[in-house]
Amino acid sequence: MSVNRRFLLMRRPHGNPVAEDFSLVEAPIPVPPKGGFVVRNHYASLDPAQRGWMDDAPSYMPPITLGDPVRATTVGVIHASDNPDFKPGDWVLGLNGLEDYSVDVAGGFTGPIDVSQVDSPSRFLSTLGAVGLTAYFGMTDVAKPKAGETLLVSGAAGAVGSVVGQIGKIMGCRVIGIAGGADKCRRLIEDYGFDVAIDYKGKGVAELSAEIAAAAPGGVDIVFENVGGTVLEAELFNLARKARIILCGLISEYNEPEKIGIRNLWQVLAKEATIHGFLISGYVPRFAEGAAQMAQWLAQGKIRMDEDQQAGLENAYPAFMRLFSGANTGKLVLKIA
Ligand code: NDP
Repeated sequence: MSVNRRFLLMRRPHGNPVAEDFSLVEAPIPVPPKGGFVVRNHYASLDPAQRGWMDDAPSYMPPITLGDPVRATTVGVIHASDNPDFKPGDWVLGLNGLEDYSVDVAGGFTGPIDVSQVDSPSRFLSTLGAVGLTAYFGMTDVAKPKAGETLLVSGAAGAVGSVVGQIGKIMGCRVIGIAGGADKCRRLIEDYGFDVAIDYKGKGVAELSAEIAAAAPGGVDIVFENVGGTVLEAELFNLARKARIILCGLISEYNEPEKIGIRNLWQVLAKEATIHGFLISGYVPRFAEGAAQMAQWLAQGKIRMDEDQQAGLENAYPAFMRLFSGANTGKLVLKIA
């Protein structure tokens, strides 16, 4: 390639992002800064979190600057380097952007990856990367399930949710998943080993709550929340006493210009439940430990994570929107090179 194609954020989306919020431009391939390097990105992670980074609102990270490429975790190969520890040809992971080439420096989230043991380097964006490790640390370090407990997972057929449920099974839980549509519910049982699958599509709080109650008559000990909105409200009506709610994501609310909030929060006090806000970024120093366990479970066939690979920077917008229509079947990854 002789140019660097860059997928830029041109204005902040209001509600659902539209194609006009972005622009694909061509720029010269950058040169390494002093002590840094240039990465030829091969795969980029498309994540619900990117929607939050597009807003100018207080968060755990600054908003993407207008005119910059959409921030994304990528894996790629060093193209040029001014750092002897990162040589051309080496594979690296970093928090970069949706673009062919990114300038990066060592440290923080950036580091070398060994792609020799995986079927695709994209594994470092799915099972062995931040998304798989969100499920791993969210379960092992925050939820800390005890065998015999009932675990309820929303967004259950997605990248995080499907692994949360499988880890729940490894840890001896009874696992109930909530997902959209008959096919995703079938996969929860057949592919991921959940005990019960509930389709939330087209259902209000009362109907969904009744289905959860039928699946968990004694209440739910752990809610691993990826969705929010009416799904969370239905779940809150089914808490066991002292339940733990792991607040991992609220995807149903990310495109809502006016955040609505939860109308039955009083269920948390009525059941003496606890809500734990959880962010994977705090676990970066422990990624190697988590990835080693995930790799072992993967090799033993105890967990699987499907990848939904879309191709081409020119398809970044429709690919990203798959997260919000539910079209993605597994970890959504954009193949760039
Ligand atoms: P997924 O692979 O789960 O894809 C997103 C899924 O969300 C869709 O497939 C769709 O599934 C569901 N969805 C989309 N819109 C709605 C809606 N309006 N109502 C209900 N469900 C909806 O993505 P990830 O696994 O990457 O992310 C899952 C969640 O985890 C997100 O909330 C994300 O923000 C969060 N997360 C949090 C992290 C942290 O550090 N706290 C780190 C990584 C992710 P369906 O077809 O079933 O509707």
